[in-house]
Amino acid sequence: MVREYKFVVLGTGGVGKSALTVRYVQDFFLIRYDPTIEDSYRKTTLIEGESVVLEILDTAGTEQFTAMRDLYMKNGHGFILVYSITSQSSFVDLRDMHQMILRVKDVEKVPLVLCGNKCDLVDQRVISTEQGTNLGLEIGASFYESSALQGLNVEELFVDLVKQVNKMQPKK
Ligand code: GDP
Ligand code: MG
Repeated sequence: MVREYKFVVLGTGGVGKSALTVRYVQDFFLIRYDPTIEDSYRKTTLIEGESVVLEILDTAGTEQFTAMRDLYMKNGHGFILVYSITSQSSFVDLRDMHQMILRVKDVEKVPLVLCGNKCDLVDQRVISTEQGTNLGLEIGASFYESSALQGLNVEELFVDLVKQVNKMQPKK
């Protein structure tokens, strides 16, 4: 049996959610992508020696009804919270998003990856690696700095999330 994982990519507009998703699923970099498009992608791959199917929802925050957002949060097995290392507000926004996930799922802990994207933009950095590390510890997430542009730490964060789900819900 091939196990299916439903992952949700969340974060403020412009942080690189679509770029990371497309880099992982299709291995190319999107320079421009319609910021209003919310789409789900499927990828079959081998992780920890098992063939797995990842269904990745690249959100755009354009839901007209909070019920829709609640539904994908309820159904999600794991979450990737993305900020850009060049944007203070995108970093601050993630605490609320994390709280919302826990509230909607009515749990205390979920498989979670915190991702500081655009780490190639060294000159524009406003969020330090230490700040990212600390937020990761605070919310119980694995932490990576990534670059969808350079393909840095992209695969790693999806693989990490699969491993977290496996640990929390071992396959019978
Ligand atoms: P989304 O709104 O979170 O889905 O953001 P997008 O994926 O559409 O990316 C927003 C903009 O940031 C686009 O112009 C991307 O080309 C750019 N971008 C995304 N990831 C990176 C990255 O890792 N490095 C750099 N330099 N630019 C990026
Ligand atoms: Mg997008």
